Amino acid sequence: MDKWIKCIAKGGNVMATAITAKTLIDEAQKRHALAHPTNKSHPSPVQALGESLIAGLLLSSNCKAGERISLSVKGEGFLKHVLVDALPDGSVRGFLISRAAEVPPVDSTLGPWQKGLLSVVRLKLGEKEPYVGTVPIVTGHLAKDLTFYLLQSEQIPAAVGLAVNFDRSGKVESAGGFLVQVVPGASKKEIARIEQNINKLQSLAREIAKNSDPTVLLGQIFDDMTFIILDEKPLRFECSWSKERIVRALMLLGKDELRDMMSQDHGAKVHCDFCSKLFDISESELDQIIKQLGAKAE
Ligand SMILES: [Zn+2]
Repeated sequence: MDKWIKCIAKGGNVMATAITAKTLIDEAQKRHALAHPTNKSHPSPVQALGESLIAGLLLSSNCKAGERISLSVKGEGFLKHVLVDALPDGSVRGFLISRAAEVPPVDSTLGPWQKGLLSVVRLKLGEKEPYVGTVPIVTGHLAKDLTFYLLQSEQIPAAVGLAVNFDRSGKVESAGGFLVQVVPGASKKEIARIEQNINKLQSLAREIAKNSDPTVLLGQIFDDMTFIILDEKPLRFECSWSKERIVRALMLLGKDELRDMMSQDHGAKVHCDFCSKLFDISESELDQIIKQLGAKAE
């Protein structure tokens, strides 16, 4: 089962979240019908979206109820844009756009995203101005650039690991990640110890993926330090869009526009980018919406 486990070192100065997420990445791959690139030099869209979904969840694991994370990564290579919404209840949705042709020349010293921009939006329920942090992508590897983002933009010394592993047939075999962060007040000694443990485990994220229990990874990060589990939550790929929501959005277009849709298209088809679901609004449903709008206006 996909889940995150959030914990804190006994002294209270180091926090970590570990995630396993194979099932939800399978779900994302299926919904978006993501295939492996035919050109072998192109990075895998499944891996790029999968890592981004895990990254969004890692960030949202530190949100309070009513907050949410929107992660946007814009690359200059084959991977064009990924957008992920993650909530502290463990639900996540997202999609990836890749460039079909005319891919700019690849810099082999950089990761799959090449160069670009990474943004994190922290939205709070009822707050008009969200917190937006943006940094340039310097390594092209999401985990490394997200670590850089946390330090640069939010002044949080942290380490991020992300992994999506494939079996020989190209199916997702395992997936997971971790976020370790130092809480203000941590001693230099504590920071050094955690850094040492993370450096020791270069392939930490790959490791976690192999263990379906994230606690194993946490044990490796904290080594001989005692830690307390704060939270454990099942995770899922889920989109909040529903037909009711589409109807509300259509209402905003106004009666004239809706009448045009009725006469020209005999209905409306609305595609949700986040989950690739197609909502079909029939002619009579449009008529109903117009009537509702009419009743409101009177
Ligand atoms: Zn959707």
